[in-house]
Amino acid sequence: MPETTVLLCRCATHTCLDQADVCALHQALEPLDDIDLRVVDDLCGLAEKKRLEKTGIGKHDHVVACFPRAVRWLLNDSSENSDQQHTQFHNLRENSADEILLKLKLPLPASTGIPPGSDTGDDRPPEWPPWYPVIDYDRCTHCGQCLSFCLFNVFDKDEQNDVVVAAPRNCKDNCPACARICPEVAIMFPKTDSAPINGDEIQDELLEREKALIALQQSSGANLHAFLSNRNRNAGKGLLKPEARKRIFGDR
Ligand code: SF4
Ligand code: SF4
Repeated sequence: MPETTVLLCRCATHTCLDQADVCALHQALEPLDDIDLRVVDDLCGLAEKKRLEKTGIGKHDHVVACFPRAVRWLLNDSSENSDQQHTQFHNLRENSADEILLKLKLPLPASTGIPPGSDTGDDRPPEWPPWYPVIDYDRCTHCGQCLSFCLFNVFDKDEQNDVVVAAPRNCKDNCPACARICPEVAIMFPKTDSAPINGDEIQDELLEREKALIALQQSSGANLHAFLSNRNRNAGKGLLKPEARKRIFGDR
């Protein structure tokens, strides 16, 4: 029988996950012959490392980490080795180890203990705290708002003129400010507590868009319309696509 591959994230640097649940899953899965288990200390850090190496994260049948929307886009990259099309994502932030084992149709562990360390040395988190934005490309319109907003050049445009997270290591630890001003609510920080920035589903579209508009206005410290038109003039080009501008401002 072919092995089922499972990637389990410990979230060791920011501990978004209940470490007792991480430990219980590790203990339940490791002894099983038909499970090929890979435990990583910090999937955010590993994803960035693999992106730099252009090697991809590898294919897995199941990924157990935090909110699936965030993890899916975290692992999204163009390398063939990162194809997650058939992967099932499990949310250990909102489900217990027992609930996830039930979904995997596996027996519950007999006992729990001290959370074990990562079993693969190269998966250890890098020196920097892996904290950076993840873009939900089902929502992003490539308007460029985040690119103009970020002072640390975390965002850039690629050859297709699409907005990408080009320099994740420039991001300031625990700063989710760009996520708050994205008009499409497309930017996630998987390690933050606040939803939907953490990748949780968006419950109220209108409310979140309104909050983004207010955050942008507050960050400008002035009238939003004056702020945007000044900045557009200075940049010599429009920052918002016409459709994005219409969505934010209506017909004004
Ligand atoms: S935020 Fe999610 S993907 Fe990143 S290290 Fe923590 S559990 Fe893993
Ligand atoms: S602000 Fe949001 S919608 Fe605009 S480019 Fe950035 S991530 Fe995409």
